[in-house]
Amino acid sequence: MILGNLCTRGCTFCSVPKFNPRKQESPLDPEEPDNVARMAAGMGLKYVVITSVNRDDLPDGGSGHFARTVRAVRAALPEAKIEVLTPDFCGDLDAVRAVLDADPSVFNHNMETVPRLYRSVRPQADYRQSLRVLEFAKRSRPEILTKSGLMAGLGEKPAEVEQLLRDLRDAGTDVATIGQYLQPTRRNRPVREYVPPAQFDAYRDYGLSIGFKAVFSGPFVRSSYMAEHVEAQAGLC
Ligand code: SF4
Repeated sequence: MILGNLCTRGCTFCSVPKFNPRKQESPLDPEEPDNVARMAAGMGLKYVVITSVNRDDLPDGGSGHFARTVRAVRAALPEAKIEVLTPDFCGDLDAVRAVLDADPSVFNHNMETVPRLYRSVRPQADYRQSLRVLEFAKRSRPEILTKSGLMAGLGEKPAEVEQLLRDLRDAGTDVATIGQYLQPTRRNRPVREYVPPAQFDAYRDYGLSIGFKAVFSGPFVRSSYMAEHVEAQAGLC
C-alpha cells in the first residue's frame, strides 16, 4: 500500500488510520516507488498488487506517484504482472489516465457496496463516480482487464447486489470479487449478516450469466484473492 499510511477518507468498514490535511501533514516519500520495486524484486514476485490510501489532499490525488511506482516495479521485475487497486481520484479522469499510462495488467477499483449504503459505508465516495472510473478505464484501454469488488454482509439485499453487478457489466468491467465483510476493530461498522455460501454461489452464477469473464465469490474472497489466477480465469492466458 503506497501514498503513506494515513487516509483522507473515513470509510466505516476500514481500519486504516485517517488524517485531516487541514490539521496534519502526510508527506509523500519520494523514495517509495523505488523501495517498493526493490522489495518486490527481492521477494521474486510474479504478481504484484499495488494499492493506496486516498489522498484527496494532493492535486493529482497521488496518481503520478502511483504511476511511478508501477513503472519502478516493472523496471525491477519485467516479467511480473502488475495489478493496480486504485482510489476514485475524486472522479478526476486525467488522474485515472496517468495510472493507465503506466500499463498495469489489471485495473481494479472497488465499488465496496450497493448505492443505498454508500452514505453510511463510503460517505465521501459516489457510486456513479466509481462506475465512471471503471467505465473510463475500459473505454480508454480496452486491453487492460478491469476488476471491481464488493463486500457482502453490510445490510445489502441480493437484488441490490445483482443490480450492482449489472451496473459493473454496463461499465465494461471484466472481473468481480465478492467476499464476506468482517469488522476489523470495535470502532468499525458491525457485521449485519454472515452470508451463507449458497448465496455467494448464486452471486457468482448470476455474474457469469450476465457476461463477467470471472467472478470470485465466497466468504473468504478478498479484492486480491487469487489475483494471480485472474487472467487464466478470464480466459486471457
Ligand atoms: S479510501 Fe480506502 S484506505 Fe481510505 S478509509 Fe476508505 S477503504 Fe480505507
